[in-house]
Amino acid sequence: MRPTLLPLPAFSDNYIWTLRCGHEALVVDPGDAAVVEAWLNHEGLTLTHILVTHHHPDHTAGLLHLKARHQAVIFGPDENIAGLDHVVTGGEQLDLGVFGHAQVLAVPGHTLGHIAWHLPKDDLLFCGDTLFSAGCGRLFEGTAAQLHASLQALSALPDASLVCCTHEYTTANLRFALAVEPDNAALVQRQQEVADLRAKEQPSLPVRLEAERGYNPFLRTDIPAVIAAASQHAGRPLTPGQETLAALRRWKDVF
Ligand code: ZN
Ligand code: FE
Repeated sequence: MRPTLLPLPAFSDNYIWTLRCGHEALVVDPGDAAVVEAWLNHEGLTLTHILVTHHHPDHTAGLLHLKARHQAVIFGPDENIAGLDHVVTGGEQLDLGVFGHAQVLAVPGHTLGHIAWHLPKDDLLFCGDTLFSAGCGRLFEGTAAQLHASLQALSALPDASLVCCTHEYTTANLRFALAVEPDNAALVQRQQEVADLRAKEQPSLPVRLEAERGYNPFLRTDIPAVIAAASQHAGRPLTPGQETLAALRRWKDVF
């Protein structure tokens, strides 16, 4: 049976991603336990798995409440997070029961222990605050070189992977992406698509990884137009890859 994917809105712009298969439920980054409880009760589901991507409170604040009330097994990174049953650091392959197997990827940058969850059977990618649609997470703990390597690792996943990021930042990210690559037709098309979705108060996510590669500037640091725009903003010629990524990230921080 194929699980059903649903993002639960939380706080002002978070999504708590959920999967259900029969009566079993899995949630990712439950920052708000009440949102999860309301969904479980409404749908009559049993919470069996919780996946965490990094330690920030908007991703973890609901863990202890959910742990006290459910038998769910909780997996997360080595970032001193209270309530985890299993710490994973990247490279592991885990059996998630009805939800199939998950591969854990180490994606440092936004935080040092940040991990992403890839569920190959259903082409799902829970990437937390590392990759956003048309953007990427801020560098709070890691280096630009680390974030570049992390984004490259995510970008190498299969085309059909559905990017399930934790924040609805797409509209603002697209404004920045268009400043970098004003002539990218895929960006213009994505902007229209997202404007339509948001006008109907629908999420801009998930989105196929293949599409992101066509317009997300942080996945396009080897594309001449992106390197040229970042170089112009930096005031000096930049090399492809991590140097361009670092300049884009600094530019976006003040955009
Ligand atoms: Zn975060
Ligand atoms: Fe966050």
